[in-house]
Amino acid sequence: MNEEVKIGVWLTNKRSSGKIAFLQFRDGTAFFQGVVVKNNVGEETFELAKEIRQEESLYVTGTIHQDKRSHFGYEIEVSNIEEVGKSEDYPITPKEHGVDFLMDHRHLWLRSKRQFAVMQIRNELIRATYEFFNKEGFIKIDAPILTGSAPEGTTELFHTKYFDKDAYLSQSGQLYEEAGAMAYGKVFSFGPTFRAEKSKTRRHLIEFWMIEPEMAFMHQEQSLELQECYIAFLVQSVLDHCQYELKLLERDPEILKRYTQLPYPRISYDKAIEMLTESGEFPDVKWGEDFGSPEETFLAEHFSKPVFVVNYPKAIKPFYMEPHPTRDDIVVCADLLAPEGYGEIIGGSERATDVNYLIKQLEKAGLNKSDYEWYLDLRRYGSVPHSGFGLGLERAVTWITGEEHIREAIPFPRLLNRIYP
Ligand code: ATP
Ligand code: MG
Ligand code: MG
Ligand code: MG
Repeated sequence: MNEEVKIGVWLTNKRSSGKIAFLQFRDGTAFFQGVVVKNNVGEETFELAKEIRQEESLYVTGTIHQDKRSHFGYEIEVSNIEEVGKSEDYPITPKEHGVDFLMDHRHLWLRSKRQFAVMQIRNELIRATYEFFNKEGFIKIDAPILTGSAPEGTTELFHTKYFDKDAYLSQSGQLYEEAGAMAYGKVFSFGPTFRAEKSKTRRHLIEFWMIEPEMAFMHQEQSLELQECYIAFLVQSVLDHCQYELKLLERDPEILKRYTQLPYPRISYDKAIEMLTESGEFPDVKWGEDFGSPEETFLAEHFSKPVFVVNYPKAIKPFYMEPHPTRDDIVVCADLLAPEGYGEIIGGSERATDVNYLIKQLEKAGLNKSDYEWYLDLRRYGSVPHSGFGLGLERAVTWITGEEHIREAIPFPRLLNRIYP
């Protein structure tokens, strides 16, 4: 240390007395303090230090010292300041602002400490995802974003024109990943997905990013093992590389450490219904219905770890799931529910292998067989047991960072009433 450096920074806050000024800076990688001592820098630089406004950009020169009191652990003793870009009255002041105001200023709000920490952790999850799937021998097969048909019906799809044809924005790359798995064994996609959901919850975005692995020659239990290893790897990567960000967020690493301990419990959908009924807290819960947020919260709280709920009723799941070998009312699938009230973070299943079963399922779902001929081909030429799942990146970010609302987990959220900025 004690080395002289010159850094490009923005001013986030300041306070000064007659002889010393404390300037709070951010340089994009951290937040830290600069100390300007009048006797060391002279009148002119000291006056400049006192006049700089919030968000003005600067080059500061100085020496770096350890500073145990700051989150970052360092401060800079300033010897010179050069102004780069002035700042007008900055709308986001250190006082509290309402959510709508902050969302209208999302392009500026991203500069704040919490948002910095969340975006760094989001980036770590992206990095760790590539590391994990590369290490496991997967290749990335990109699914198209414009699709000509609707895998699970059109109710939640954004419609657009594709020259003189109809097209939809992808809500999942899964069917294409299945083609990829039949070609290359283990594949994944990682791209934006779109759902025209008119629901206003703290877990749903209109546009979000999904990681969708698909594995040939793989049954459910192996897929669950892969899923829990992946989630534990994500959490461990954040613990290894984002301690500074966790401190900024006041997210307790001890809580996260629990989530690296495998295995995660597995309970059947039947058992989940039983637990909910026995608790007496859910008088309306009925076998055959999907869980809402209160039910998911209750189930994961019970284990204080992520928990797999397996084998849901066939009637509430999409057409492509493998039927259960001995019961015709359930399918071989699993949702992974996160603790602390974050709900479903992964949805996955074994995929049906039999072409005739799939044709029947398409009919039942009222889908057009001709749209799915290519998908049926995957069963006509060397069908194998295969499984896959989808993780919503922003759900994972929200949970791991401990944020209240999923809108904080993506740089520019698309919400029911928001497409600006
Ligand atoms: P939910 O029951 O919470 O509405 P889903 O069952 O509709 O989710 P899937 O179709 O199984 O979701 O998608 C796989 C994963 O994608 C989910 O487990 C979740 O992590 C994520 N996801 C789904 N919908 C959204 C959304 N609107 N915003 C953000 N992430 C989502
Ligand atoms: Mg949904
Ligand atoms: Mg669900
Ligand atoms: Mg699901």
